[in-house]
Amino acid sequence: RAKQRGGGQHYLFSDKLALEHQSRIEIETALTDAVPRDQLRIALQPQVNLATGEVTGAEALIRWHHPRDGIRSPSSFIPIAEQTGIIAEIGDWVVTEAASILAGWQRDGIKRRLAFNVSPRQLDRVDFFSRLRQTFFDQGVPLSMVELEFTESAAMQCSEGDLAEIAALRSEGASIAIDDFGTGYSNIARLRSMPLDRVKLDPSLISDLDSSEQARVVVQAVVELIKGVGCEVVAEAVETVAQADILRAMGCHTIQGYVFAEPMYQDEYQAWTVGADRHARSVA
Ligand code: C2E
Ligand code: MG
Ligand code: MG
Ligand code: MG
Repeated sequence: RAKQRGGGQHYLFSDKLALEHQSRIEIETALTDAVPRDQLRIALQPQVNLATGEVTGAEALIRWHHPRDGIRSPSSFIPIAEQTGIIAEIGDWVVTEAASILAGWQRDGIKRRLAFNVSPRQLDRVDFFSRLRQTFFDQGVPLSMVELEFTESAAMQCSEGDLAEIAALRSEGASIAIDDFGTGYSNIARLRSMPLDRVKLDPSLISDLDSSEQARVVVQAVVELIKGVGCEVVAEAVETVAQADILRAMGCHTIQGYVFAEPMYQDEYQAWTVGADRHARSVA
């Protein structure tokens, strides 16, 4: 009987694997068409200055409007895009889209920064940085409106050449952020020597802030470390007012999270910031 059950489990297991494999290949095939078929969208999540309540910018987060599955979140396809190399096309699309969003903001007189995520695989292409410059230049967008986010693990693996390119872009006005800080293995000496403006705390550091003294001790130390190397501290996935209050008291500069707003498509984002600006003005 046990054997039977084991056999059944085995059957179920390989069936599940086959399904996963199939859906993976399906995803891969469909993903190749996502850019040419115009299925990708950018959602914007506001970043808010904790001291003034002002909206300082937004992060661009990709969404895939899959013809059968509906809206897919990036964690379900970005890793596959990275493994297959499709991330190069998707990454180019994100840069182009970011430039067009910023061109619109500029026309409207909005002086905010837009951050977007960059996968390490995108840096494999030798002309990544020159094409990025050209894209923003063509749209008349100054690099001071642009922020590039690299995950902590990606940043620690960057080659010296990549670091020099990043430093050059930064000297031309772009901001550089480390994403998901506190999950990877950080070399503190390297962190100090990196061309960096902001460090984004990983959500795992934020979630128990209001319930655990130990979590607060750890985050306070991390905040001091980041400020000590001269960077601005950004907390993301901040969900409660209590978490925001604790982060403010700790000296965290900027937050992003459901407590203020979820990622929104452009029309909704535009409407949201109008109300938020009015609120910031009334607070100031
Ligand atoms: P990330 O860059 O760390 O983005 C933050 C994630 O936290 C986003 O998930 C955002 O929707 C989510 N989030 C925001 N506020 C809250 C909150 O209050 N609570 C919780 N629990 N979560 C919150 P999303 O949009 O699903 O993106 C997931 C990841 O996918 C991103 O993590 C980023 O690593 C990657 N990604 C997104 N867009 C791109 C892209 O254009 N290129 C690349 N290479 N990766 C991207
Ligand atoms: Mg990010
Ligand atoms: Mg490289
Ligand atoms: Mg993050």
